[in-house]
Amino acid sequence: MKAYFCPNCEEFTDVKLDTGKQVLNVRGEPIEIEGEVVICQACRAKIFDEELDSRNLEKAYAAYREKHKLLSPDEIRTTREKYGLGQRALSRLLGWGEITIHRYENGAIQDKVHDSTLRLIEDPQNMKKIFEANRSKLTSCAAARLEERIASFLQEDKEQVFHISLQRLLSYPHSDLTSGFREYDLEKFKNMILYLTKHLDGVLKTKLNKLLWYCDFLHFKETSVSITGAQYVHYPYGPVPKYYELVTGIMESEGLLDKNEVGFNTEEGIIGEQFTALVEPSEDMFSETELKVMQFIIDTFRTYTATRVMNQSHQETAYRKTGDRDVISYEHAKELSLSLPK
Ligand SMILES: [Zn+2]
Repeated sequence: MKAYFCPNCEEFTDVKLDTGKQVLNVRGEPIEIEGEVVICQACRAKIFDEELDSRNLEKAYAAYREKHKLLSPDEIRTTREKYGLGQRALSRLLGWGEITIHRYENGAIQDKVHDSTLRLIEDPQNMKKIFEANRSKLTSCAAARLEERIASFLQEDKEQVFHISLQRLLSYPHSDLTSGFREYDLEKFKNMILYLTKHLDGVLKTKLNKLLWYCDFLHFKETSVSITGAQYVHYPYGPVPKYYELVTGIMESEGLLDKNEVGFNTEEGIIGEQFTALVEPSEDMFSETELKVMQFIIDTFRTYTATRVMNQSHQETAYRKTGDRDVISYEHAKELSLSLPK
């Protein structure tokens, strides 16, 4: 501890650090904090210490901000840096004094109106409006940079919204016999596609559709619950996951899956769409039984052509007992021609 001069004793004395309740005045309002003081051991008087004093004041400011729900200096800095603006540039943009933001980031307490504005611009949509009205207040270089930042945040938001609405469209809110008593799990479904595609070293689209169906239905037969919660629809060429094209389209745009037209020589023609996995599936998403089912389906159908898988799916009770474009109920899974080997 540094040496202290006690004005009361008029000499350097031994001191101790004490903590206790203190009431400080912040903007005309008494704020109580747990503060630190230096006490002279000889006369018990408090000794002024500038460093401790400013630390106590900071504490009081923080308590005041908390009480009035004001942004902290760090939060203000984070918002500013998110847009790549300097302190002066942001102040100018908002029509405030040049050093206003500098003061706030260094601990001065912002007034309520300024606080509301700073909260508003956290949303890029609002920042865009303010920027468009005040563009001339920035240098052309700062303006161009900010414009680009805002555009990229708005693009991210759009993608987020798209993802959420897609998830909503795809998810079947109930878990019943059409979903195999499980709520649809898009991430798991995507990973099942990756798993099959990876382990088959690429797979034709028409074959993949049916293997997905076999996986979910076989797992239901064994455990009374599907793997992914996907619904499957009766199509002329066999069972197809609902909104299937949407999911693989998303996976392509996310760089998870690659689609190629391939020439191959079978009875069904010479051109088909083949998927290859561009990333590893997250296998830890799946239970031991789920992995066993998927591996069994892969082993069973590995050498089958798409046509042969289609023909087999046409023979399944689940397919025969449903009409064109009907959702195939998992209740038929118990009559599936396949069983997991014991
Ligand atoms: Zn003293």
